Amino acid sequence: EYGGIFPNTVDELASLKGIGRSTAGAIAALSMDVHAPILDGNVKRVLARHNAIAGWPEQTRVRNHLWEIATELTPADRVANYTQAMMDLGATVCTRTKPRCEVCPLADDCKARVQNLISSIPGKKPKKIIPVRETVLFIVFNDAGDVLLEKRPPSGIWGSLYSFPEGDNPKELPSLAAAVTIQEESLHALEPLRHTFSHFHLDITPVTAQGEPTDAAAEPERWLWYPLDGSIEVGLAAPVTKIIKSLSAT
Ligand code: SF4
Repeated sequence: EYGGIFPNTVDELASLKGIGRSTAGAIAALSMDVHAPILDGNVKRVLARHNAIAGWPEQTRVRNHLWEIATELTPADRVANYTQAMMDLGATVCTRTKPRCEVCPLADDCKARVQNLISSIPGKKPKKIIPVRETVLFIVFNDAGDVLLEKRPPSGIWGSLYSFPEGDNPKELPSLAAAVTIQEESLHALEPLRHTFSHFHLDITPVTAQGEPTDAAAEPERWLWYPLDGSIEVGLAAPVTKIIKSLSAT
């Protein structure tokens, strides 16, 4: 593509696989003394602190601001020396924790130091806000102390795993088909628990109840009376395992 000649512009270098804008700038500045700004992690930290720029440096707005400053500050002369100095300053003096401001050549006009903001700059990555959903899991015991599990459909959460029958309202029993008759007066809500998936939290209210099978042969593929000692090996949804463990311990 370049006829065997190593590219000597930032744009050409950045077009090579695995080389980003900052690395391209560093190669150009350090090896060819080309006027090119860099913005690696260390330089981001120095510039963010020196100018008291709040926010996570990977946020587009913050990153663009830092690139503007990096471009403005990069000198036309001795660019290689400047670039190496900035990288060394970030790596050895303006470190992430415990920066050594007492030996820093930028200390006098470092805004983060003067405004006592060093510990909060650079800002942390904002936490992802994920939605919360709610559900009720009915833990139905039979007289033998086994609990009723239902095999979930293959698609959706906990696909094909066994779980407690699910409902929307702790006082409203879900349809348990012909599998069981519940004694309504036995319903008892337990402490809620949270299970977190990658894209949402699921707040679970477990509700215990006493019930009896009405027809042992009804959909045996779907319903299972499961002994709390775990002597039957089936795939269980993660919160079900957790609830069963805590029930076994009581
Ligand atoms: S004075 Fe401290 S916080 Fe500011 S750039 Fe120097 S080492 Fe970093």
